[in-house]
Amino acid sequence: MLKPKAPNLNSPATPVRAPATTARIIPRSDHTISRSGISPNALRVLYRLREGGFQAFLVGGCVRDLLLGIEPKDFDVATDALPEEVRKLFRNCRLIGRRFRLAHVYFGRDIIEVATFRAATAPSPGQEPLPDPDAEEDEESQTDREDADVAEPANAEVFGDADTERLFDKTGRIIYDNVYGTVDEDVWRRDFTANALYYNIADFSLWDYVGGAEDIAVRRLKLIGDPDTRYREDPVRMLRAARFEAKLGFDLDPATAEPLARLRGRLADVPPARLFDETLKLFLNGCGVRSLEVLRRRGLLAALLPTVDAYLESNRGASAEALLVRGLANTDMRVGDGKAVTPSFLFALLLYGPIARLIEAAPPERWHDIATILDACDRAVRDAQKHVLIPRRFSLGLREMFALQPRLEHPRGRRALRVLEHPRFRAAYDLLLLRAQAGLAPQERADWWKRLQEVAPAEREQMLTALEGQGAPRPAGARRGARSRRRPRSAPPV
Ligand code: ATP
Ligand code: MG
Repeated sequence: MLKPKAPNLNSPATPVRAPATTARIIPRSDHTISRSGISPNALRVLYRLREGGFQAFLVGGCVRDLLLGIEPKDFDVATDALPEEVRKLFRNCRLIGRRFRLAHVYFGRDIIEVATFRAATAPSPGQEPLPDPDAEEDEESQTDREDADVAEPANAEVFGDADTERLFDKTGRIIYDNVYGTVDEDVWRRDFTANALYYNIADFSLWDYVGGAEDIAVRRLKLIGDPDTRYREDPVRMLRAARFEAKLGFDLDPATAEPLARLRGRLADVPPARLFDETLKLFLNGCGVRSLEVLRRRGLLAALLPTVDAYLESNRGASAEALLVRGLANTDMRVGDGKAVTPSFLFALLLYGPIARLIEAAPPERWHDIATILDACDRAVRDAQKHVLIPRRFSLGLREMFALQPRLEHPRGRRALRVLEHPRFRAAYDLLLLRAQAGLAPQERADWWKRLQEVAPAEREQMLTALEGQGAPRPAGARRGARSRRRPRSAPPV
């Protein structure tokens, strides 16, 4: 697609240390990005900035995706206008973020993110914060902090001049960064070469400082700069590597892949709220099945969701694994069809194995107790929350999905109608279907619920009457606090 003319500045022979002053400029005639592929709102923003006398580029994933012929998820703009200057140009604009101050330009529900160029995040050679010998202990104590985005950690220290607005912690992690710069500085703070191409609205050329165009052409994912330093600055880049490997099918450059197993423990430093966002990006981006495969192969699932990883590793080929993979495949399909997906359902899939394990640790006669099921849900969520925040509304949704399973498996006459009207019915029914497909619930019951939803009211009545006539025994544990006259069941309820 593109013949490299300038040396690849990121090649191992010439490690990237300091900003280069020249980009390889790829003229419009030599690349495939057409304005027809760019969102009209993004074009409006670019033109307005340009008319205001500023530089304006599309940058990041949208440029990469346009080169790959993929429809970009969102369009990010980079400019030399300061956030305040951007705000003056657009009435429909808000400044957001403390850690990284950005302008959001609103067009109804569509948001174009406009970032002012920042100076390189990589410190100058010799000034890199060295790993602190005590850092491992410090990391432990930070594991539960959820507020790193809004408060500076105890071990934060200003790095560089007092008037720079960038802070690193002792492990080299950037915790605050608002140093404005030029485009040829901005490029060095980007993560991967494929994400560091700039599309210049002034003449529709591409600016490539790091060999990104070539890496995209050969489908190679390569960190800019020294991989260890870049992962330490921001351990989330490890998850981003996995996400792009899964989403784009790129090969990880060996130097980019090598530190993953070694540095994955650094994810413990990342605020759980940010890991929640990243988890959604990994699993709700239409490539969830592949993300799971890559995370496991790269050893990253063990750092992100250790209980899920431990369950999968010690129960290879188990029904819960089949359920998870099938559920993620369904989710991928829904995303592809533009349908809604919910984090409650995602976490129900991911935590299915750990929840089942916790239930099975109880005496068999209590497996069907709602109290046992809810307790297992709460404990599994609590364990996961040590790393990944699960906002309460989603953990409540997960609980309800699990609590409805015994009622779905053992509907009781007309009360089935109440289950049908439960706000969480649809998600719980989808979970029942997956359980049935994995051999964890009776398929006939899943079929029964399917029919109940489809048939006309009269036939629905008949189905309910027939159910009452069968005198379906109330399942043990269908009600919290049910007395324990029940016989043990052979199969766990989830
Ligand atoms: P997606 O297709 O998921 O939107 P993306 O590459 O656009 O992928 P974003 O999270 O939207 O990812 O980020 C936009 C751009 O910002 C990236 O392409 C990259 O250049 C830069 N970026 C984002 N996160 C980081 C990070 N943690 N470290 C360095 N650069 C980053
Ligand atoms: Mg993006």
